[in-house]
Amino acid sequence: MGVESCGEPQEANTSGDMKAQLEGEGNDYAIVIHGGAGVIERGNMSEDYEAGVRSVLAEALKLGQASLEQGTAAEDVVVEVVSFLEDQPQFNAGKGAVFTYEGINELDASIMRGHDLQAGAVSGVRGVKHPIALAREVMLHSDHVMLSGEGAVEFAVSREQELVPMEYFHTDRRYESWQRARAAADAKPALSEDGKFGTVGCVVRDLKGQLAAGTSTGGMTLKRYGRIGDSPVIGAGTYANNASCAISATGHGEYFIRYAVAHEISARMVHGGESLGAAASAVINDQLAAAGGDGGVIAVDAAGRIAMPFNTPGMYRGYATPDTAWVGIYGDEERE
Ligand code: ASP
Repeated sequence: MGVESCGEPQEANTSGDMKAQLEGEGNDYAIVIHGGAGVIERGNMSEDYEAGVRSVLAEALKLGQASLEQGTAAEDVVVEVVSFLEDQPQFNAGKGAVFTYEGINELDASIMRGHDLQAGAVSGVRGVKHPIALAREVMLHSDHVMLSGEGAVEFAVSREQELVPMEYFHTDRRYESWQRARAAADAKPALSEDGKFGTVGCVVRDLKGQLAAGTSTGGMTLKRYGRIGDSPVIGAGTYANNASCAISATGHGEYFIRYAVAHEISARMVHGGESLGAAASAVINDQLAAAGGDGGVIAVDAAGRIAMPFNTPGMYRGYATPDTAWVGIYGDEERE
């Protein structure tokens, strides 16, 4: 898919909105969220479903705004908002996660904060209601960055994290997709049954100027052999550094890992002096698109300027600052 025909045009050039980002003063606080990118086009979903997704995204932003206005730290806002999105069955994270080849739900999540580059991640965990909260526990209360599988669940128990029976994650929609995918002659892992990624993420610049990023996902439908994508990989699906930006990604994880997407955007800013908008657009719309890697990122820089480039027809996304809140789905929706 060509760069010109997808994503947000304003992110792919240096006029209009990009100019405002470059020259803008930034924001006292900013929160940006995503609920996945992909083949999200008008007519693809019912009006009711679309309205439901928009209202959930708006509610998530409101939650984040209220906490930010009370002075809550960026990393805690990330956990609060991503936990809320994990509870929503529309997204491929927490409840509503896609099913593995074996027909269960295995979850990945990560968090990073920008002032001291601390990070925590969990991969392939079962039965943990809020993997993003567990990732924060790893960051704050372990000597490690990433815990996986049964060990991560054991750690969750030791940190008194909420565990739920596996049925909790079940949604008919994902289960039926899994059944269809399993029945296909060439049953193999798919990024999503219907061309939509449903990972959730949140990046924040709080009132003190601290940055944080978090991402949570069920990964790929029919994933097998312990496949882990980019979402729990620091530098690929999630990254935060007060010197540059906070990033959360959604898309074909294997590409995001190989191109170290989240860190690459930060590095272009730090070493190349690029603006957030230019760096994020170059990686998503040029590098990744040329390689065939579908997806997008949400991003905020140290001054609270934001970017949300994607190279797919749509991305569930939204942002809020002290002055405004905005939610969008399709590629032709221009942010305010
Ligand atoms: N990036 C995720 C993965 O590859 C999928 C997604 O964004 O929905 O696991």
